[in-house]
Amino acid sequence: MQRLYFECPKTGARVDVGIESELNTLLLIRAKPVRALCPRCGEVHEWQVSDAHLNRAA
Ligand SMILES: [Zn+2]
Repeated sequence: MQRLYFECPKTGARVDVGIESELNTLLLIRAKPVRALCPRCGEVHEWQVSDAHLNRAA
């Protein structure tokens, strides 16, 4: 499993929006933007999966 981190466009902080995915799923959703509530600034942002930082679970 891999966990997706996105960069908050407002604060520049790396945020965890709670998306955890297998690579196969990532490939499926890659074409779609991800909309999620940002835990850092409280607004909804739209990210591209291709912009995500991947953190492999240890
Ligand atoms: Zn934000």
